[in-house]
Amino acid sequence: MQSADPILIIGQGIAGTLLSFELFNAGIPFHVIDQVDPSCASWASGAVLNPYSGRTIKGISRRSQMYQVARSKYKQLETLIGSKILHPAPLLVFDADDGNNDAIPEMLLTLFRQKDNLQLFEEVALVDNTLLLKEWREFLEQNQSITNSLFDIEQLSYQDGPVRYQNKQYSKIIFCTGVAAHSSPLFSRLRFTQNRGDVLLLRSAQLDRNYIYQKDKLRLLPRPDQTFWCGSNYLWAYDDMVPNQEWAEKTIAQLKRWLKADFEVAAHICAKRPTTAGQIPFIGWHPLFPDVGICNGLGTKGFSAGPLWIENFVQESILNKRPATFQPVLDKWCS
Ligand SMILES: Cc1cc2nc3c(=O)[nH]c(=O)nc-3n(C[C@H](O)[C@H](O)[C@H](O)COP(=O)(O)OP(=O)(O)OC[C@H]3O[C@@H](n4cnc5c(N)ncnc54)[C@H](O)[C@@H]3O)c2cc1C
Repeated sequence: MQSADPILIIGQGIAGTLLSFELFNAGIPFHVIDQVDPSCASWASGAVLNPYSGRTIKGISRRSQMYQVARSKYKQLETLIGSKILHPAPLLVFDADDGNNDAIPEMLLTLFRQKDNLQLFEEVALVDNTLLLKEWREFLEQNQSITNSLFDIEQLSYQDGPVRYQNKQYSKIIFCTGVAAHSSPLFSRLRFTQNRGDVLLLRSAQLDRNYIYQKDKLRLLPRPDQTFWCGSNYLWAYDDMVPNQEWAEKTIAQLKRWLKADFEVAAHICAKRPTTAGQIPFIGWHPLFPDVGICNGLGTKGFSAGPLWIENFVQESILNKRPATFQPVLDKWCS
């Protein structure tokens, strides 16, 4: 039987959003503490759901379950918050392996300098991450299930007896704090890696907003705020979070070679991805403190793989008390 005490969730990026959504659906009481950080990965994310692998369709069966679960979860979230967050957006790949221009509207091509070896992938979608995070937060506020504050581990007791924070008792605490977990005394032994991505936000009145465009590693995603998200890079060594000017200049030059359409740069942002050695997420329980959990390490796939991983975690390990799929990695590094 579930405890009557709520589960305390720290963080409301996509991990905390999906976890609180699963608990809400399962009727398990919970409370979230989050301090909004618009520079975190979930706000900067491209939030693409793509069942295909790279430029070919080799990975489709492996990824299709993730894709189907993700689509279904975002549809359910849409119903709860009453806003559209899932937008189908076919992906048009330039320099594709199996290029065939037949299915591509002629008008679309007039906006690009290159017109050969194009491939259209229909089953791709974008999540409106900004709206989802904002409106899910409002939903939690209406249900008095979220506190806007900075969680302070000094005020947590968890070692002897039940979890307590600021004089309240909880059945469990689950950290969904993204890259902040690197410096947590509980989880600092986990093998997080350091990775950040730069993004340009572009304005272009001419580019068709119904498609995602990709050439080499560059993607252009139409965003509901009328900009195009353009990114991204993978920087593994950096000392600060200053947007990378060299990358921006190279990207603008590449865009000018690729696009005939006019564009202007509205902003340049960057964010850290919560990546891990071996790309295995950290989703499970602390081996020494069984009421302390973590839902992190979603890496480059928080929006696409997060829904399946987090559904499994709640089903397996919160509802059915079985070991979580990714528990062995926590047992190895936190013991
Ligand atoms: C440039 C870029 C492009 C990406 N593109 C895609 C994509 O196309 N598709 C995809 O699936 N994924 C993509 N990702 C990856 C995805 O964005 C991440 O996997 C995901 O956002 C991680 O979410 P998170 O909730 O674990 O962490 P975060 O987004 O970092 O959220 C952590 C939350 O915890 C809060 N927090 C931390 N510490 C505290 C504290 N002490 N007290 C209170 N609150 C706290 C933070 O304020 C924040 O709200 C991309 C990432 C980047 C950076």
